[in-house]
Amino acid sequence: MDFELTSDQIQLKQEIINFARENLNEEETLEEFSYEVWKKISEFGLFGLTVPEEYGGLNESFLTAAVAIEALGYACKNNGLVFVINNHIWVALNLINLYGTKELKEKYLADMVCGNRIGAISLTEADAGSDAMNMSSSVSEEKDYYVLNGSKMFISNGPIADLFIVFAVTAVKPFKQITAFVVEKQFPGVVIGKNIEKMGLNACPTSEITFNNVKIPKENILGRKNMGSTLMTNALEWERCYEFAPHVGAMQRIMETSLKYAEDRMQFGQPISRFQAVSHKISEMKIAIELSRLMLYKIAWLKDQGKSAFLEVSIFKTYVSEQYIKTCKNALQIHGAYGYTKEYGIERELRDAIACDIYSGTAEMQKNTIFTMIPSVDNY
Ligand SMILES: Cc1cc2nc3c(=O)[nH]c(=O)nc-3n(C[C@H](O)[C@H](O)[C@H](O)COP(=O)(O)OP(=O)(O)OC[C@H]3O[C@@H](n4cnc5c(N)ncnc54)[C@H](O)[C@@H]3O)c2cc1C
Repeated sequence: MDFELTSDQIQLKQEIINFARENLNEEETLEEFSYEVWKKISEFGLFGLTVPEEYGGLNESFLTAAVAIEALGYACKNNGLVFVINNHIWVALNLINLYGTKELKEKYLADMVCGNRIGAISLTEADAGSDAMNMSSSVSEEKDYYVLNGSKMFISNGPIADLFIVFAVTAVKPFKQITAFVVEKQFPGVVIGKNIEKMGLNACPTSEITFNNVKIPKENILGRKNMGSTLMTNALEWERCYEFAPHVGAMQRIMETSLKYAEDRMQFGQPISRFQAVSHKISEMKIAIELSRLMLYKIAWLKDQGKSAFLEVSIFKTYVSEQYIKTCKNALQIHGAYGYTKEYGIERELRDAIACDIYSGTAEMQKNTIFTMIPSVDNY
């Protein structure tokens, strides 16, 4: 095992850090989506990290992408914007790149790589959250097209997206089957709901999307008909890795902020970092960062080998979520009353972090998955 980053990876990481610090942290855009900022990221060329050059991408490995996305999370304190970017890349663009036909790639990929079209994933419904397979959105097949009816809930990027990866029921007998489709916002019958106000991640708009007799061209099927549950599993794997990669970087940023504050803040005639109750909180942040990073790079390595990482992503997602929230809470505690004010930005970090225990499958659901995948003693 080689834990050394290549000089190219180190350079890309530094370029992303410099770019994010210079362009993505404007106070007025921290809680609101900005097309101006989106344009800057598009021009920087972040979206096509793992996409082949023929579609305008950089054709990098998944490990390099993990390093890049971690760096983005470190240097961009706008966690909502990072969420927009990762939803666009990993559960929209990346799915078309990996599972789309050549025709579908030619239709959408280059546009998504250069940021002209924003993507989103539409899986959850009002009555089907953790139990996603209980979805009721359905598609019927006509001679020249499919017809989609239903409604999807809590769709990140919903109000700004041009393309939706939509999962819907395509068969009920002998058992329920689902299929994934690429649906354009412009297709007649697509209705975008109003922005749902949330506790955090506010630079990432969220909405309900309703589909009323939406005609989908036959070529817009993603993967194969009735193969949607496999594609959904794959999509969740990508999501649980790369939407949580930036949190490793965010924890590093928050640790550095906490350390600096603890060294500067004087109480009882000494820096509060000298109190073990404070320094241990920072040590715990460091432990979480190192362990999360190891797991992230292992998963990225598995993906580069074309292997499944279903158990690993559940472990990573669960651990990072718990530790990211704990890191933010401890950072707030170290900052005392200043941490509780809006001015220091720590309360925003905590509000943003709390969502990660819910999206991409709740913490409870991940632990269910992990338990079922533990090999029996005989197979150890
Ligand atoms: C910020 C954010 C962004 C999101 N973005 C998207 C998106 O872009 N696209 C999309 O499709 N969805 C998105 N979602 C929806 C997300 O995937 C769901 O919220 C999630 O799957 C949980 O579903 P639910 O909220 O309906 O909770 P429920 O499934 O109703 O769960 C409620 C509670 O019951 C627990 N529970 C349920 N079943 C079990 C069980 N079997 N065992 C133990 N506990 C259980 C849960 O863990 C949870 O604590 C987003 C959600 C959030 C918060």
